[in-house]
Amino acid sequence: MSHYESSKKISAEEATNTILGFAKALEPERVPMLQARGRVLAKDIASDIDIAPFDNSAMDGYALLASDTANASPEHPVSLRVVGAIGAGSVFSGTLQGGQAVRIMTGAMLPAGADAVVMIEHVELVDASLQKPEGVQIILTKRAESGLNVRLKGEEVCCGEVLLGAGTVLTAAGIGLLAATGNTHVELIRRPRVAILSTGSELVDPGELPEPGKIRNSNCFSLSAAVSAAGGEPHILGIIKDDKDEICAAVQKAVAAHDMVLISGGAAGGDYDYGYQVLSELGTVHFRKINMRPGKAQTFSIIDDTIVVGLAGNPAAALVGFEVLLRPALRFMQGYKKIKRPITKARLAADTFKPDSRRFYIRARVEYDKETGEHVVAPEQHQSSALLGAMQNANCLVVLQEGLTGSLKNELVTCLRLDIDEGVVI
Ligand code: AMP
Ligand code: MG
Repeated sequence: MSHYESSKKISAEEATNTILGFAKALEPERVPMLQARGRVLAKDIASDIDIAPFDNSAMDGYALLASDTANASPEHPVSLRVVGAIGAGSVFSGTLQGGQAVRIMTGAMLPAGADAVVMIEHVELVDASLQKPEGVQIILTKRAESGLNVRLKGEEVCCGEVLLGAGTVLTAAGIGLLAATGNTHVELIRRPRVAILSTGSELVDPGELPEPGKIRNSNCFSLSAAVSAAGGEPHILGIIKDDKDEICAAVQKAVAAHDMVLISGGAAGGDYDYGYQVLSELGTVHFRKINMRPGKAQTFSIIDDTIVVGLAGNPAAALVGFEVLLRPALRFMQGYKKIKRPITKARLAADTFKPDSRRFYIRARVEYDKETGEHVVAPEQHQSSALLGAMQNANCLVVLQEGLTGSLKNELVTCLRLDIDEGVVI
């Protein structure tokens, strides 16, 4: 019996967690702020100034002393004299005295002495025909509270205070805050460098027309796209023939320059499958068989501290294996706290498969049904691990636990959402 047959089959959870156990958050790197959206801050960001830097107007209006309006009412209107006008970026040079107002635009610094702004729409102008605002009388018929329409200095953050903590996932608002706090670059957790190599003597590049017996290498490209989607930095290292020495040399080279190495093909126990031999000679193999479908034969090893995984060669199985086993580890390495895809519970529209003793990841499409207020999930017709079309159409994997029997049609099943990032609340 080959070693393959005798090796222990572990559960998909155990396999995912074993890999996660070896995944480490990577070190910081300095990145231009416009490349930081969606990534994780490695260090706290403190502001170098107060934000807002000064008290300023929240409205286009008239800055004044609230105490001047204490008794204002329609029966007892208060009249103030406009002594200046300022837009955002300009400063009123004097100090406002009782009985005076300054015409002020949104964002302009509140004049010294003023403590409230009354909106333009809420005052009446006497002498509106005057060309300049200076000299105009304004009439107020309502009391203005101190602080009305004033945005305070330090309202968002005070100088030296931490505004964005290490571990924050930056959104567009976060990028704005980086700019406001004087950063052009930012320290983020580095993205994992992931090498991707395809093994198989049958493989040719996509630009070639395959001769009899050959097929095009699709896994390098699908896996590269999946690595990018997970936030990693993919490096396609190309096709290696089913030759033990060549695979060995390629893996050693890849390990030296990457945080993770993905090898597609050659992971099972066939005559020309060298994945296990190579990985066990170069490092320590932690598992090579998983109780899941597709992707029973997938090998995980650590070589010189690097995660090296032999994924299934069948194209859909390789992508399901990546999603289940490696995406969580790649997210963890980038510092994300949320590393599980959101789950939707949905009614299964049809049985197109036979449950068996393995965990089944069914490529399927989940939709919300407005009529019933429930989600419904339709499995793709073709569940062969060789076919990528079903994976392209799918927006989820229906997860069927090991050992289920009988029909599950109309039952509520668990859908692992491939179309929603980890951490999104649904
Ligand atoms: P293996 O895991 O090497 O036994 O391959 C399983 C199946 O996947 C075979 O039909 C292979 O031809 C196919 N396969 C392996 N590698 C690739 C690849 N890079 N692109 C497309 N199909 C592949
Ligand atoms: Mg092969």
